[in-house]
Amino acid sequence: MGSCNDQEVEAKCVWVDGPIIVGAGPSGLAVAACLSQHGVPSVILERSDCIASLWKHRTYDRLKLHLPKRFCQLPFMPFPPHFPKYPSKHQFVSYMESYASHFAIHPRFNQTVLRAHFDPSSSLWTVRTHDFHYISPFLIVASGENAEPFFPNIPGINNFHGPIAHTSVYSSGSDYKNKKVLVVGCGNSGMEVSLDLCRHNAIPHMVVRNTVHVLPREMFGISTFGIAMTLHKWFPLRIVDKLLLLMASFILGNTERCGLRRPKTGPIELKNITGKTPVLDVGALAQIKSGKIKVVEGVKEITRNGARFVNGQEKEFDAIILATGYRSNVPTWLKSCDFFTEDGMPKTPFPNGWKGGNGLYTVGFTRRGLLGTASDAINTAQHIADQWKSMKDKKNYCNSRFILLNTS
Ligand SMILES: Cc1cc2nc3c(=O)[nH]c(=O)nc-3n(C[C@H](O)[C@H](O)[C@H](O)COP(=O)(O)OP(=O)(O)OC[C@H]3O[C@@H](n4cnc5c(N)ncnc54)[C@H](O)[C@@H]3O)c2cc1C
Repeated sequence: MGSCNDQEVEAKCVWVDGPIIVGAGPSGLAVAACLSQHGVPSVILERSDCIASLWKHRTYDRLKLHLPKRFCQLPFMPFPPHFPKYPSKHQFVSYMESYASHFAIHPRFNQTVLRAHFDPSSSLWTVRTHDFHYISPFLIVASGENAEPFFPNIPGINNFHGPIAHTSVYSSGSDYKNKKVLVVGCGNSGMEVSLDLCRHNAIPHMVVRNTVHVLPREMFGISTFGIAMTLHKWFPLRIVDKLLLLMASFILGNTERCGLRRPKTGPIELKNITGKTPVLDVGALAQIKSGKIKVVEGVKEITRNGARFVNGQEKEFDAIILATGYRSNVPTWLKSCDFFTEDGMPKTPFPNGWKGGNGLYTVGFTRRGLLGTASDAINTAQHIADQWKSMKDKKNYCNSRFILLNTS
């Protein structure tokens, strides 16, 4: 990495020898590791003060990987064999830390990317943080599908008398003992937080506004995800979905009786089309059946003391937890680039969404979790390595850019 002084801007100008990677989560680390395997250096810019900040700071204590570890490992380094099949969040973080140290990855922390843009005349990306301009021919977006908590606009929510927390700041149900809690959202987080609340003797009411697929995490001792992947080698997706739902209804019974209506589209097809992940049940369904987690209809409005529901019923609550998911933040900082949708996801669908053109890449925007991350990281690193080699072969390339910066 070289640097230069630009008189016209206060921020220091830094030439990055290799790609700039935005984000030190699993995706940023994975692509940095893959690049290093090709001998390509890189610089990771991370807004937080640590790696895997989502997992360290914005997830609840009881979180475990939803999928078996073999589907969640990053390229070139499996989980330690003594880790359980579903590692806890602390184990996952320690795996990430070992991964970073194994590949000698040292992100630049406290570097929030405020703006990034491509200059066609120089074919370079300029990435602005508070105190630096970073410049490189390659920009890898690894800032995550889950960069910012999503707060839905529920009428009346500002009038509520009690605490309102997004799951990103929820650690455990210990603060909610004996409290009536409205949990808005019935995805994996909504279900698991409701379960956690039950275990801390709170009284969760989970809002189920839409249809939802609930599948057992395992079927006959094998992970449901693993079964789906294996079946898909032999059968088309629709058949796989039919078989999964058949087995799910055998194991879980009819979830509609608990107020959990299934979508018409099957779970895997739905995931592929909309990104909506099926809930992998780890015990919440049993609590719903026993009445300890109460399923309630969509909220019409939040009142001072509770909520009014679409069926006209009104209930009082002590607290509200928003299990309403996250959003990408790419559109807030990546400028004049039409590769992303308004929601900050690549317009090109999986498996080709990693390559944006003009030296732009994305890792981890596949809605396929860490498996998608691994696939993007390998493809991106290979593609950059091919160009990197020819750039290095044309010796003048980096030198000319460096001079350009020095004379600007
Ligand atoms: C609760 C939860 C459980 C999950 N469980 C699983 C699972 O079991 N299996 C699975 O495969 N997937 C799971 N996922 C999905 C996904 O694999 C994870 O979200 C994973 O952390 C994604 O990694 P990432 O690096 O793409 O994004 P992140 O982990 O979100 O990392 C992105 C990084 O970019 C940084 N960043 C964002 N914006 C900027 C900016 N402007 N400037 C600088 N830095 C920035 C962030 O601070 C963050 O550190 C889960 C997701 C959640 C939310």
